[in-house]
Amino acid sequence: MDHIENDDKYQGLTVNKGVVSPPTVNPYLKKNLRAKKSLYSANEYVEGILKGDITMLSQAVTLIESTLPEHYSLAQEVIEKVLPYSGNSVRIGITGVPGAGKSTSIDSFGMHLMKQNKKLAVLAIDPSSERSKGSILGDKTRMERLAVQKNVFVRPSPSAGSLGGVARKTRETIVLCEAAGFDTVFVETVGVGQSETAVHSMVDFFLLIQLSGTGDELQGIKRGIMEMADGIVINKADGSNIDKAQLAAAQFRNALHLFPPTESGWVPKVKTYSGYFDLGIKEIFDMIDEYFSFVKETGFFEFKRQQQSKYWMYQTIDEKIREHFYENEEIKQLLQEKERLVLDSKLSSFVAAKEVLKVYYNK
Ligand code: GDP
Repeated sequence: MDHIENDDKYQGLTVNKGVVSPPTVNPYLKKNLRAKKSLYSANEYVEGILKGDITMLSQAVTLIESTLPEHYSLAQEVIEKVLPYSGNSVRIGITGVPGAGKSTSIDSFGMHLMKQNKKLAVLAIDPSSERSKGSILGDKTRMERLAVQKNVFVRPSPSAGSLGGVARKTRETIVLCEAAGFDTVFVETVGVGQSETAVHSMVDFFLLIQLSGTGDELQGIKRGIMEMADGIVINKADGSNIDKAQLAAAQFRNALHLFPPTESGWVPKVKTYSGYFDLGIKEIFDMIDEYFSFVKETGFFEFKRQQQSKYWMYQTIDEKIREHFYENEEIKQLLQEKERLVLDSKLSSFVAAKEVLKVYYNK
């Protein structure tokens, strides 16, 4: 029915009838592309992502994770285009050994953020997923409450490739998530290997989840990981475990005093909490807020992000050079031959490497 305002005699404010807007994607094309499992154009992904369309975001992330060169270049085009809309989130790295309570805690942290109307992306870097066939991180069922939230995007770790490659993909996914309006990004990793360094190189705040145990709390924790942490939080401070958790916290505080001052000038804090019972969560976020105010005031926030961009430029160059080299058919074959000669002690490793590189550079 027409609006009364559309009557010729109507004198007041008018409302246009409006036209039916055409779909952004030709439906016929869409169907066809779907059938061929083909792709949208970079602009269509960009438009979708900027609108906060989760399906488009998800599909663009799949492109980032793909090993096909045409997907790679399309993904890069999308990233390039949304880059001006990214960078506005609070990026938090979360690490801890298996069983420390990462997923329970992320569920609880996430629910805390939901109460503040935040939009949260949960990403992961899991270098072991290739071997275990299927990621142990980012599994939705591990975060039961978050899994059903409209404002949460959970994405398991990219599974293929080297740690550097997996980490780059996660970093690029952060860019897309930010452009899609996610204001908080968690990057989870298992605290057992080098992946912390990779996470550290893409987040603003690095949170280490620890447990209180028996005896020496600091045993088995790599000094390097502790040095990276902006906050150490002792989980499972509930029931009969509260005293032990507090004791562990005191030990961590003492240990931190022995470390050299951090680059940011921030003094890492230690808190106890219970992810399972949602206790002490607000205090953790107060600490994170405090950190952000601090580094934004000193300029360290910007400085760190710039350093990270530089780091990722070199990381990407390294990754691409390696890929170009190791995926060359002639080189692959040559490597096999030289490997055999080296194993049979007929050629020194140094000479073998030099010979292969010579062939590569002369190509
Ligand atoms: P992740 O491997 O680091 O992701 O650890 P999970 O979140 O899967 O937790 C490992 C186990 O610890 C599970 O059985 C959890 O129920 C339990 N857990 C996690 N957080 C807490 C907590 O705050 N208190 C208690 N008592 N148990 C917890």
